[in-house]
Amino acid sequence: MESNSTVTAEQNVSGQVIQALKSSIRGDVLLPDDETYDAARSIYNGMIDKRPGMIVTCANVADVIASVNTAREEGLEVSIKGGGHNGPGLALVDDGLVIDLSDMKGIRVDPENRTVRVEGGCTWGDVDHATHAFGLATVSGVISTTGVGGLTLGGGHGYLTRKYGLTIDNLVSADVVLADGRFVKASKDQHPDLFWALRGGGGNFGVVTSFEFDLQPVKHVVGGPMFWPLDELEPTMKWYRNWLPELPDDVYAFYLVSEVPAAEPFPEDIHGEKVCGLMWCYTGSEDTFNTFAQQARDMAEPVFEHTAKMPYPALQSLFDGLYPEGLQWYWKGDFVKEISDEAIDIHKQFASVPTMHSTMHLYPVNGAAHKYDKKESAWEKRDATWSMVIAGVDPEPDQADRISNWAKEYWKALHPHTMGGAYINFMMEEGAERIQATYGDNYEKLRNIKAKYDPDNFFHINQNIKPA
Ligand SMILES: Cc1cc2nc3c(=O)[nH]c(=O)nc-3n(C[C@H](O)[C@H](O)[C@H](O)COP(=O)(O)OP(=O)(O)OC[C@H]3O[C@@H](n4cnc5c(N)ncnc54)[C@H](O)[C@@H]3O)c2cc1C
Repeated sequence: MESNSTVTAEQNVSGQVIQALKSSIRGDVLLPDDETYDAARSIYNGMIDKRPGMIVTCANVADVIASVNTAREEGLEVSIKGGGHNGPGLALVDDGLVIDLSDMKGIRVDPENRTVRVEGGCTWGDVDHATHAFGLATVSGVISTTGVGGLTLGGGHGYLTRKYGLTIDNLVSADVVLADGRFVKASKDQHPDLFWALRGGGGNFGVVTSFEFDLQPVKHVVGGPMFWPLDELEPTMKWYRNWLPELPDDVYAFYLVSEVPAAEPFPEDIHGEKVCGLMWCYTGSEDTFNTFAQQARDMAEPVFEHTAKMPYPALQSLFDGLYPEGLQWYWKGDFVKEISDEAIDIHKQFASVPTMHSTMHLYPVNGAAHKYDKKESAWEKRDATWSMVIAGVDPEPDQADRISNWAKEYWKALHPHTMGGAYINFMMEEGAERIQATYGDNYEKLRNIKAKYDPDNFFHINQNIKPA
């Protein structure tokens, strides 16, 4: 990311300043020679190896305010760490100060008003666990270890998106520490411009110390994977592109290409087989699910199906074992409105994934997410049908080039057949043009709001929106 004129925390901050920060907070300040420093700087993507000057493990909002003030006064670059899942590793900053929220895990469910307040260090697994006890859930992603902070501020889509919209469509308010150290609450009534920008504009506007979400009545869902042999890609994708948009909002199914893992519950005879398929989440009854599932089975005979009624948190954590922290990740994304025949030919060309963990997903962002106008929040691509990600993934660092090249080539070929912007949470560091293309008509408004709340671009370790 673009660097402001800043100094190096490790080299230029005096012991006195570090001591003053330490004594003013309830959390800790970790320096490179501390025992826990390496654990604190390790994030989900094993490809990232950044060395911050200091990591402040914040215990509460007061610690966040102290960290922001210290960094600003000392001229340090700042990054914000929530769940640490960001692909290009924007949770960390070389030499600068990391505001690490991961110890801030307070959650309070209000079952009467059907809302939940969540601190900035929570993962979606934390939230789903807490709300499930009340038979409630909000819109999260497809892996439980992803952080609430980064996912929400980017927009957020997941299994409940066709039924209940994006994560930001369920956001009621946010507590924010601004670049000047002020604390504000953003909602439809308080700082509405900031609230608008937070819903899709990423970590550009301040440190969100807690989020308040609406909850929906979701306890169990019917879901799981259904795979076809890869040579069924062309007919199944041609069928899927017309079938999904016509379905009731209760039906969610993302299309995927993958390789069958050599592990339970997959039968041995298909271990290592390249496949395409669907990952289902249905919020209606089991009986009606079967009507839709049968349409897919009739389309092509699955080589594997593992669909069942299950608690929502079980579906949301189904991939967790397959994708532990520390794998190598390189991903690229785009928004997709329609899947043309030409695009399907390109998918056929690249869909044989280079490694078992690598994958391509087409996540639906239609249904309830289409009920909102593109001007209602920073998320401009309300007319997208899918948010696509192509992810090269492998445990071995020596595979990093191979998986990155596959993702880049696949994306490069498909890009002309997409909408020209991507979900900011599925981008590596791809430059200002890509960010502008993503926000489209909302970009100038975002720049003005950035100028109002962060005129010096203090928060720039992110998919950066430059102040107007
Ligand atoms: C395996 C995997 C699966 C995923 N699945 C989905 C999915 O289903 N749906 C989906 O929408 N996305 C998904 N994502 C993408 C995910 O939304 C992004 O990686 C997101 O950045 C993760 O948020 P985090 O808090 O874990 O990230 P971090 O790396 O901690 O933070 C990323 C950035 O977000 C900002 N940020 C984080 N917290 C705050 C805060 N409290 N205040 C201000 N800024 C903050 C900062 O700019 C920071 O640089 C997935 C990612 C992975 C790795």
